[in-house]
Amino acid sequence: MDCIFCKIANGQAPANIIYQDKKIIAFDDIYPKAPQHKLIIPRKHIATMNDLAKDDAGLIEEMTLVAQKLAKELNIDQTGYRIIINCNQDGGQIVYHLHLHLIGGRPLMFTG
Ligand code: AMP
Ligand code: ZN
Repeated sequence: MDCIFCKIANGQAPANIIYQDKKIIAFDDIYPKAPQHKLIIPRKHIATMNDLAKDDAGLIEEMTLVAQKLAKELNIDQTGYRIIINCNQDGGQIVYHLHLHLIGGRPLMFTG
């Protein structure tokens, strides 16, 4: 499967990886939209939120806990941050491998 995030997860494509465990990895977004912009993904290929199975539900929880930990390490936990999952076209999804954006380091406007 030609998926850039799968390739990053298995070391076939470059990324600045800042966290990894058995199920999850996190790395810098290549086009940061704020001073801090990280992506947190499951190693397992799940295309969109629509494809999340009941058995995978715990993954989202683990991904949010990684976001919490990284926010603290990046020193944006007190100033604040946003976590986002985009789904399909209207949600602005470009990469079809589930990912959580962790964005912070400046005041964020709502862009809906
Ligand atoms: P989304 O619009 O939610 O699908 O977000 C995809 C994100 O992945 C965008 O913020 C891109 O900048 C980012 N991105 C795409 N390719 C790469 C890559 N090779 N390494 C790191 N980030 C990437
Ligand atoms: Zn993938």
